[in-house]
Amino acid sequence: MVYDDIIIGSGLAALGAAIGLAASRKVLVIGGAEKAELEFYSDQKSIPCSYTGVGGLGNFWHGVVPTGIEAPYAQESSKELVELFQYFYPRSSIQDRIGRRWLFVPRRPVRPRREWARLSRQRGGNLRFLPLLADRFDIGDSGPTVFAGAETFKSRRLWIAAGVINSPKIVALSVSPSVRRPFVSDHIICYVGQLEQGTPGVSGPRVERTSEGFWLSFERSLDGSALLTRRPARFDYRRLDYGIEQRAIFGLPTNNAIATLLRATSPGLVAEALFNKFGLFPNSRVLSVYAQILVEDALRVSLEDASMTPVHRSAAQAMARLSLPWPELVKSRRLDLFLRGIHLHHSLDLDAMKTAGLSSDQSTVRVVDASAISQIGPEHHSFYTMARAYRLSRQVTAVGSRLQTLS
Ligand SMILES: Cc1cc2nc3c(=O)[nH]c(=O)nc-3n(C[C@H](O)[C@H](O)[C@H](O)COP(=O)(O)OP(=O)(O)OC[C@H]3O[C@@H](n4cnc5c(N)ncnc54)[C@H](O)[C@@H]3O)c2cc1C
Repeated sequence: MVYDDIIIGSGLAALGAAIGLAASRKVLVIGGAEKAELEFYSDQKSIPCSYTGVGGLGNFWHGVVPTGIEAPYAQESSKELVELFQYFYPRSSIQDRIGRRWLFVPRRPVRPRREWARLSRQRGGNLRFLPLLADRFDIGDSGPTVFAGAETFKSRRLWIAAGVINSPKIVALSVSPSVRRPFVSDHIICYVGQLEQGTPGVSGPRVERTSEGFWLSFERSLDGSALLTRRPARFDYRRLDYGIEQRAIFGLPTNNAIATLLRATSPGLVAEALFNKFGLFPNSRVLSVYAQILVEDALRVSLEDASMTPVHRSAAQAMARLSLPWPELVKSRRLDLFLRGIHLHHSLDLDAMKTAGLSSDQSTVRVVDASAISQIGPEHHSFYTMARAYRLSRQVTAVGSRLQTLS
């Protein structure tokens, strides 16, 4: 059988591509391994950077959706961002916030497994899901063929969304090793210091609730490279740098973070965690300020086994460029402590992808995850990437149906 579309991967980007395809198309999802591997950042063993099972890193993410859309790839998909957001959160309107500095923190993050089940119910026999690892593909004249173990699958279009670490391996093996970059970019997150409410020019974070989560305002650094959030500092957290190592739990997958919290003895940590998850008690006299900073080429990737090692120079340079809009901020003395930002992107060489014919609207093979995005800006990128995947796949369907109408 020849499918209309094959999607490699079953994480957020793959899901975005699948939702964008017309329900009438015959779609095969090659969704990752049954026996999955979970990989971690080499210097932060508790923070996952790749998962080869169904749902990918979407099983762990916090689900935060920004609305600033300052990066070009996000602007291109702003209409699709609104549509997709309404699909997942029908009772929370995003339209009026587009282009403004808000983060949506959902009660229930989008979880790919649950969403694949919903999509399967909607699409019936037109959506087939196989828990398999794809090895490589051929771009044939009559359409791409995917090789997965002993099996081969043919289609008219192929969408690759195997994640920032795995998509480059598949494309390199299928097209040319030159498409892989030896680096990958990311964010880092650090505690930059404290502000005191009541000081002129300093106010607390704005929080607006919906039945599905809450909206939290954010600021940008003066150089534009960082997204800044203010969070209440209560109890022991009123002391600069107090418990700074404990704050690493805010980067953990939700379940691990809750387990760690239950053991926590710091009331400041618990108060901040309640704010982070539910937006509770935003107004305190002292505020902690956190920065999410873009770090280009944050990690070196081995072209042999795809293992990643941090490039400390890149993080240090990004920190040195950071300029904050509050002169009265009392700076942390531990700026050397930061979390990897779990926002990996740009692991494919975009020029080499263009030369290989894999980045135009006419290409029958498209990479739709963040490995093919070079500039994400300081905002969380996953929902934007999903909206981009949704736009690209929907575009094909729209052109296809226009052609059918014309013929
Ligand atoms: C703790 C944590 C919190 C996070 N919070 C946020 C947040 O709040 N906001 C935000 O924007 N981002 C967040 N992220 C980042 C976000 O989770 C990822 O950017 C996103 O999940 C990536 O989705 P993806 O579909 O591109 O790739 P992945 O999730 O990596 O999915 C890749 C898919 O491909 C499959 N696959 C891999 N290899 C193959 C193969 N050879 N054949 C077939 N299938 C294959 C995998 O099984 C998987 O289904 C967070 C990440 C973590 C770890």
